[in-house]
Parts: sequence; C-alpha cells; structure tokens
Amino acid sequence: MKKVYITRQIPEVGIKMLIDKGYEVDINKEDRPLTKDELMQELKKKDYDAVLTLLTDIIDADVINAVPSVKIFANYAIGYNNLDIKIAKEKGIYMSNTPSGGAERVAEHTWALILALTCRIVEGDLYLRNGKYKGWDPMLLHGERIEGMTLGIIGTGRIGANVARKGKFGFGMNVVYYDVKRNEELEKEDAAKFYSTVEEVLKISDIVSIHVPLMESTHHLINSDRLKIMKPSAILINTSRGPVIDENALVSALKNGIIKGAGLDVFEFEPDLAKGLIELSKIVITPHIASATEEARLEMSTVSAQNIIDCLEGIAPRNNVVL
Ligand code: NAD
Repeated sequence: MKKVYITRQIPEVGIKMLIDKGYEVDINKEDRPLTKDELMQELKKKDYDAVLTLLTDIIDADVINAVPSVKIFANYAIGYNNLDIKIAKEKGIYMSNTPSGGAERVAEHTWALILALTCRIVEGDLYLRNGKYKGWDPMLLHGERIEGMTLGIIGTGRIGANVARKGKFGFGMNVVYYDVKRNEELEKEDAAKFYSTVEEVLKISDIVSIHVPLMESTHHLINSDRLKIMKPSAILINTSRGPVIDENALVSALKNGIIKGAGLDVFEFEPDLAKGLIELSKIVITPHIASATEEARLEMSTVSAQNIIDCLEGIAPRNNVVL
C-alpha cells in the first residue's frame, strides 16, 4: 500500500482523494507546524512514498536524505521557496506547487492593502473605536486619490499582472513594471509599460507592489539603497514573501520619512515582526492571509493531492516545479 504523510490538517477534499486511491494517509496531529527534527522523526516511522507539505515546512537536503523512499514533496502553496529544488533534481524526485490556488484573491488582497493605506481605513476605524470622533471635520484624516498615480509592479506573473490590470483599467492609474521576463500580453493590452531596471520603476512610482517569488536573486530585492530611490510620498506593498524586503531597512525608512507607508501581508521573520514595525502608524499589516478564502484552500487541497496521485500512478505531476 502506498503511504502519504500530510504535515498539517488541510481541507478534507484532498485527503479523501488520496484515501479513495487506496493510499494509507497519516496527518500531523499537532495544531502547529512540526519542527524540522519532528518532521524527520515522523517521516522515518514509515517508508512514505509522498509528503504533502505546507510553506512552513523546510524541505532541505537533511529532510530529503532522511527519507529516500519519498518520490514527491507536494507543496500546498503557490510559492515553493521552502523546497530545495536543486537537491530534488539531483535525487530525481518531484516537487510541486498549487499555482492557481488563490492567485486572484492575492491580487484583490493587494488592492485591499493599497486602498486601506490611501483611504486611511485602519486609522479611521481606530479613531472611531477610540471615541475620538466628535463630528465632521474638514481637516480630518486626509487620504490620497489614486486615479492618475503611477503604480509600479515588480514581477508581472499571475498575481502581478492581475494587480496591474486592476490598477490600469479599474482605477485609471499609469502602470509601469519591471520583470526579468517581459510580459507581452500586458504590453499588448496597454495595461503596463516595461522598464528595464527595478530602479527606474522605484523612482517614478507612487505605489510599488512586489510580486516576485523568493529566490536567492530576490532575497532583499528591496534594501535600504533601493528604498532611498523611492519617492518620500510613496507606499510599498508586499504580498509575495517577507525576505524579498529587508524589513529592518524598511522600518528605518518609514521612521525617517524615506518613504511614506507600507502594506504588508508577509514578513521577513514570520511569525515575528522586525523590531519597531508594529509601532509605526503608516503601515497596514495582515497575517499572511492574502490567499485565504475557502475556495482557494479547497483548490489547494485538491491540486496538491492530485500532484501526489499523478506521481504515485507513474506520471509526472502536473505542477512539477523541478525542471
Ligand atoms: P508567478 O511565477 O506567476 O510570477 C512571478 C513573476 O516574477 C514572474 O513573471 C517572474 O519572471 C518574475 N520574477 C522572477 N524573478 C524576478 C526578479 N528578480 N525581478 C523581477 N521579476 C522577477 O508567481 P505568482 O503566482 O504571481 O506569485 C508570486 C509570489 O506570490 C509567489 O512566488 C508566492 O511567493 C507569493 N504568494 C503569496 C501569497 C500570500 O498568501 N501572501 C499567496 C500566493 C502567492
């Protein structure tokens, strides 16, 4: 009987797909991610054929070498920076992601952060809750109108392109972008204009939104030098992965008026926040929930299970990322 280990409870639909195939399925019983040592201990208990992983599981050489029976690590996430693709390639095993799970919702959440900042939603909400509202005041909580502003997108894949289109066609913004690969579709639709360096985009944008995967080349893509290129009136949005921004440099830039504000769904030291971040009033933060809808989570459950089924039934998983 083929054996599958799931590193945390996920929606039942995917688990049922695996059980219906006749696989033996074990699930981490703790309501928390396992540490790397705990995960290796669990996986060593049986000769598992497949592991369904979450983005909180670090699947590196130690884990891969500890369980040579495993033929696939199927990530329940769009991003897969927690998986060591290089080692998987060397070992000839598969790794997969759930590319469609929640991409549109992440774009919507990006817009929620942009609007929360420019319309000062969180500040206004707190103002009321704290009993400070004494009546209409012409000087109260002035925000910004985004129509006509320049939106800079770094990384125009599924999510970045969606955010760009909403900016151009939904809000009447001037949209510019940088990506290592040009997005011809976006350009053909006249949705965004390409610039060949990150710096050019940072320099001219009123709002900068980051949508790159976390890799060696994107770690601290936004650092203190690049923050200094941005307009002092600019806001920075990140719904990709925390370590793409040097978070300590961001705190310092916000404190010193280098940039005006930030909207963050992801954090460099997750679940911790960089020192001083929480005290800043010019930020809106959410706890890594940009893709969190029931619909997306169900899709991620079925897609990750299907990748395991593909592999264990002898075909390449449809969302294999080891190329
Ligand atoms: P995608 O692969 O479709 O697009 C990524 C884009 O980034 C590609 O166009 C790629 O060419 C570009 N890119 C790569 N390296 C770059 C670089 N150095 N500079 C500029 N561009 C670069 O991915 P996607 O579906 O749009 O998702 C983007 C990221 O969003 C994921 O990798 C994931 O980490 C993150 N994400 C976060 C959440 C959340 O809950 N906050 C949910 C889903 C995805």
